[in-house]
Amino acid sequence: MRRKLVAGNWKMNGSADSIRKLLQGIREGAAGVAAVDLAVFPPFVYLGLVEQQLSGAPVAWGTQNLSEHGSGAYTGEVAGSMLLDFHCTYVLVGHSERRTLYGETDDLVARKFAVARKLGIKPILCVGETLDEREQGVTEAVVGRQLKAVLTLEGIGAFIDAVIAYEPVWAIGTGRTATSQQAQDVHAFIRAQLAAIDPAVASQTRILYGGSMKAANAGELLSMSDIDGGLIGGASLDAKEFLAIAEAGG
Ligand code: PEP
Repeated sequence: MRRKLVAGNWKMNGSADSIRKLLQGIREGAAGVAAVDLAVFPPFVYLGLVEQQLSGAPVAWGTQNLSEHGSGAYTGEVAGSMLLDFHCTYVLVGHSERRTLYGETDDLVARKFAVARKLGIKPILCVGETLDEREQGVTEAVVGRQLKAVLTLEGIGAFIDAVIAYEPVWAIGTGRTATSQQAQDVHAFIRAQLAAIDPAVASQTRILYGGSMKAANAGELLSMSDIDGGLIGGASLDAKEFLAIAEAGG
């Protein structure tokens, strides 16, 4: 039985003040959604604040990116070992904004995934097609290629502890959500890709949906058999809304 995970990607939003309030709200309400795992992904500079405010709360945290390098002359980058200093459980790799705005390739994403695993940080591998790709009918080819890059480098065993987030690019931050059936179809495809190599791993890998998920549509999405939670952007900046999404999955 896979426990659902609801994760908030705060992107480049917030201030010390607003994040303190957001964390307080999440902390207060987290006990009420005990059936679902919760995690938040703040900007790097607020990790200390997050660790301090969430310590002892049933909420994990992580970052939105990490460097593929261990240390050294990489100005502006943050190493995975530094995330361990703040007790991060998870790290996002290959978010579509990293892929499209910062040119992250399948190969680079796979290397970041490998670095995280080596350090004992659980990677959340983000995959998904653009609107153009969906309209051309190549959704499975794109998602399959993104997945294969990690499978080739790390092998199926890498997915025992990892999480996959299917995020159609056309649904991120647009208010346009995939229908529950559209999402389920791609989730089932992803699980089938894993199952073709190792059915036991496939049955335990959590696959989250991301793309304009909110309390109003979460119940339907989270009721689908292969949707094991959500990666939430905009709606995760409001503690009540974020917790309501988690409640819908409980
Ligand atoms: C995301 O950034 O991962 C995301 C799903 O954003 P939103 O919920 O705002 O579409």
